[in-house]
Amino acid sequence: MPDIIAKDLVVIYNYTLRTQSEEVVGKDEGEQTPYLHGYENIFPKVEAEMEGKKVGDRFSISLSAEDGFGEKTPTTPQQVPRSAFPEDAILEEGVAFNLETPTGEIMPFWLSEVDEEFVYLDSNHPLAGEKLFFEIEITGIREANAVELEHGHPHGVDGHAGHHH
Ligand SMILES: [Zn+2]
Repeated sequence: MPDIIAKDLVVIYNYTLRTQSEEVVGKDEGEQTPYLHGYENIFPKVEAEMEGKKVGDRFSISLSAEDGFGEKTPTTPQQVPRSAFPEDAILEEGVAFNLETPTGEIMPFWLSEVDEEFVYLDSNHPLAGEKLFFEIEITGIREANAVELEHGHPHGVDGHAGHHH
């Protein structure tokens, strides 16, 4: 087992994410989150801070909006009738969809508002413009397998998670 975080290793960690207003907006609820170090699976600033850490290390790091989900761009959310979505689509605030723009580009959109008849698509991530505060604990480090290295991301905590891509 490797004991220091370095490129091509899978790192398993727990985290809590808060905004400036102390609101907890992300937490893995005791589940361990894996990422492949050196492949920008996570925010580059957080990945840089991970370098050289070992199991049991804890740290806090804050990110500017720019280093997090980006600055908020002043756009008007697009009103779309619910009927434009498949019947089984989950239409709740904060849900993301990858949609094709008129120029053929695939872009993520988030539902910023939902009412009985319409949903509102916003190109801003719900946490755009927010300063982010992470608390992170490293709980495991392991070698990546060949498939994970080829894909550039881990397949679950143990490397055997089924996946479809
Ligand atoms: Zn994969």
